[in-house]
Amino acid sequence: MKTIGLLGGMSWESTEMYYRIINEYVRTKLGGLHSAKICLYSINFQEIEKLLYLNDWKAIAKNLSNIAKNIEIGGADFLLICTNTMHKVASEIENNINIPVLHIVDATAEEVVKQGIDTIGLIGTKPTMEAEFYKGRLTDKFNLKVIVPDANDRQIVHDVIFNELCLGKIKESSRKQYLRIIEQLSDQGAKAVILGCTELALLVQKKHTAVLLFDTTRIHAEKAAEMALS
Ligand code: GLU
Repeated sequence: MKTIGLLGGMSWESTEMYYRIINEYVRTKLGGLHSAKICLYSINFQEIEKLLYLNDWKAIAKNLSNIAKNIEIGGADFLLICTNTMHKVASEIENNINIPVLHIVDATAEEVVKQGIDTIGLIGTKPTMEAEFYKGRLTDKFNLKVIVPDANDRQIVHDVIFNELCLGKIKESSRKQYLRIIEQLSDQGAKAVILGCTELALLVQKKHTAVLLFDTTRIHAEKAAEMALS
């Protein structure tokens, strides 16, 4: 079994889900007392959030690359960056380590394409919905047409992530807003919606909507577990 490296804590509310999903996958596959080999480094999110607010991506890249190096030294065979947003600096991190990064966009897009979907809605933080590192990869590498909410709704989605979900707060009023936004993306032609933030499954799940959802946390974590056992 390979050792999975997790660069987590962004936020720990979602890293907890990664830990559970990966271990449940291994237990289901191998039975008995089997569990995953994981090297987890959980950061203090406030420190990174501060840099995000300042839009200092250079400092974020340096910071996360140093942590990734420590995860490699700790024995990980490959690395997961347990957040969609921080994939903005995935290539810098990758360049600083000698183990591969399992990219969250690739893991997710492979599942989308497998289901024959060509037009996808995307919700997540503002960098994820607005910058090219995410949408561009979905379009250029996987030939997907990507629809994001309008500026006002992007702000709503973003604020709920940082002011509620990353703090473990689940509010019915925010769920209603999210479902309205998801259904709007579907009305605009999206055949499914990517939950492009690792906390979103805390708020919206399959049972809440008829729109097909791709949960990046579950997809990323399960692909890692599959890789570890391959
Ligand atoms: N966990 C979130 C994501 O998947 C947002 C927190 C962050 O900025 O890393 O994008």
